[in-house]
Amino acid sequence: MSNRLLAIVEVSPEARIACQANGCGHAVYKRIHVVSINGSLQVLGSECFKRLFGGAIGGNPAYSSSDGRRLTDAERRMLQENTAQLVAQLEAEHEAAQDPAREKLQRISQSGIAREASGGPPHRFRAPLPVRQPAAPRRHLGPTPEAIRKYEAQAKIDVRAKFDVDPNLPGWRGLVLQRITELSKSDEVPD
Ligand SMILES: [Zn+2]
Repeated sequence: MSNRLLAIVEVSPEARIACQANGCGHAVYKRIHVVSINGSLQVLGSECFKRLFGGAIGGNPAYSSSDGRRLTDAERRMLQENTAQLVAQLEAEHEAAQDPAREKLQRISQSGIAREASGGPPHRFRAPLPVRQPAAPRRHLGPTPEAIRKYEAQAKIDVRAKFDVDPNLPGWRGLVLQRITELSKSDEVPD
């Protein structure tokens, strides 16, 4: 099995950890190198990594940036107690970031946005329409229920006179309503 630099990570100075190189044990917190040596994991300070593997293992970690991502407290505990689990997590993160399906989704949604944006002048950069609120009930404006009853009575009289029909039959309701509208718009307020 080959040797491999898996990740470079960082912890807070107060939470520094011991370099695992043989006979070292120095406390390290920056540029901590997680390496796989013949299948077993080792956590090394950057000096020991250079001393032991400089040139033999490339400086480009497989599952992290070469800057060294800062670990959360939980991840730091994992680094010491279960390095393999942390490596698995970093690997999953790395794969999610590289996932072609995700890239594809992103492309699709971006082209969707592009389509919408080029949908012609009337749609381009149109501000969202204000939400129309239902008109507040008009309490002191317009005809009172009493006036409406008077309009209706007058409308029925007018419809009967004009069309010679029974305005109380449902079939003529439209005519009555039309006449009510006319009356309410005019000043012919019946007494
Ligand atoms: Zn060391």
